[in-house]
Amino acid sequence: MFCFTFTGDVIKSVGEELWKEVENAYTDSGKITDEILSALSFVYQSSLLPALDLVDHRNVSHMTSPSGRSIYQVIGSSGTPYTCFTTSFYCSCPSFRYSVLMKDDHLMCKHVLAIKLSEAMKLTKALEITDDEMATLLKTIE
Ligand SMILES: [Zn+2]
Repeated sequence: MFCFTFTGDVIKSVGEELWKEVENAYTDSGKITDEILSALSFVYQSSLLPALDLVDHRNVSHMTSPSGRSIYQVIGSSGTPYTCFTTSFYCSCPSFRYSVLMKDDHLMCKHVLAIKLSEAMKLTKALEITDDEMATLLKTIE
């Protein structure tokens, strides 16, 4: 099925279709089928397994504050928390800066991928934080 070369844009739209399948499969059966997993691993390659591992460990949190701001936080494999925005696929990790932005060879880092998986599988922890805490978190990414 995936036997020709995709451009980045095509891969992104393939990704969107896949996310719907992940969500449907997980909602129906509580797991992701091998077929979907191999498609995901084709698109996201080496980021997939570390991202699934982060989801397995429930490392993904969606934080909201009373003023209505919201961000995601993912605890990386080394225990470092990273702040992410899914709208821009932004992540505060070094891999985002070096691989995604500079080399352009990754579609998104494993943390943002973990958020997408965790949202599709509905395994994201919801946390309410204060506006002060939110401001402090947002400061770390400037
Ligand atoms: Zn990251």
